Amino acid sequence: MDSETNPPKSVKTRHKCSACYKQYNKKEHLVEHMKVSYHSVHQPKCGVCKKHCRSFESLREHSKGLLAKDNCSRIFHELGCGLCMKIFDSCILLSEHKWTCQLPPPTRLGTISLPSMELKNSISDRSNGVPKIHEAVAMDCEMVGGGSDGTLNLCGRVCLIDENEDIIFHAYVKPQMPVTDYRSDLTGLSEEHLRDAMPLKEVQEKILEILYNGESIGIVRVDGGKAKLLVGHSLEHDLDCLNMTYPDHLIRDTAKYHPLMKTNLVSHSLKYLTKMYLGYDIQMGIHDPYEDCVSVMRLYKRMRDQDHLKDFVGSCLPSQVTEFITNEFDCCKMKDLEKLTPDELFEMSRINRKLETTDDYDDDVMALEGATRNSSCAFTLSSKHR
Ligand SMILES: [Zn+2]
Ligand SMILES: [Zn+2]
Ligand SMILES: [Zn+2]
Repeated sequence: MDSETNPPKSVKTRHKCSACYKQYNKKEHLVEHMKVSYHSVHQPKCGVCKKHCRSFESLREHSKGLLAKDNCSRIFHELGCGLCMKIFDSCILLSEHKWTCQLPPPTRLGTISLPSMELKNSISDRSNGVPKIHEAVAMDCEMVGGGSDGTLNLCGRVCLIDENEDIIFHAYVKPQMPVTDYRSDLTGLSEEHLRDAMPLKEVQEKILEILYNGESIGIVRVDGGKAKLLVGHSLEHDLDCLNMTYPDHLIRDTAKYHPLMKTNLVSHSLKYLTKMYLGYDIQMGIHDPYEDCVSVMRLYKRMRDQDHLKDFVGSCLPSQVTEFITNEFDCCKMKDLEKLTPDELFEMSRINRKLETTDDYDDDVMALEGATRNSSCAFTLSSKHR
């Protein structure tokens, strides 16, 4: 219940969450709220009142929906960008920004008889003296049908691009079992495309070579080393049809990143996200793996470049907060937590979120927890370090 909108009249002191401004009569309820809300720097914030929203969808509601706050919606209407939801200091800055925010759709590959192609896979290593950085690679597969009813997903085509939207690898794929449905209306594929296509096994090897980037499996499992981040939309389906796995902590999935999901944590389609956040249409008719790759890469980069707050661990904090840092939030005694101000609780909830991972991992590896309980961290805190 959002008590902010319906404040009871008789209450004198209320405890307000510093992030989402919800208010509670009892401090313990605020503490409970902080434990489960996982407020973090990844949550999109209203550019006017700074309220944390769970997703861009709820920020959109807050800024220009039917129940939008008057002041926020008035300022947003005048100075806000409807795609990235940022607010600008002047109309001139806003219109300058719109040129960079509204991107033109990429040129589709189409299904011309494109041979498999592969950029010379020079192993990239940007780690000399710089904090650990994982370059991102976006991947998308088009699937044809196998099995007696054609419902088994088989990879028929795959495309990988780098952060500059250049193709690293593209191939038509020869599945390991007979294709019973080419799904031509969606895939644009037919028997000719797959007849002399690259065998699945060879495709897997090439993709893993690109992703591992010369790093050993051991290192990739621990902190990633120079392995690439794999970006995609509902990547489990792509990996499944390729019969491949990749470590969770190196996966960035635009279908699983909380700020890009519906408020009830159901995924949006890539088509919807592209329209709402990038401002153009995709998947009009035949699906183009390059077009989808470009969408996920652009969405990922846009999220990565969000203005995440600087690190502040250990700085400007009251001692009772720093004492708690080494503990799990859940282990803290309730009565001790209740002594803290809402602001301190907020700082602490964020610090705990961060320390759970930075103890053992680079910032960039936060998707470990992302896939499971807090995908709001899946796109990492590393934007400002890059
Ligand atoms: Zn809150
Ligand atoms: Zn607001
Ligand atoms: Zn924008």
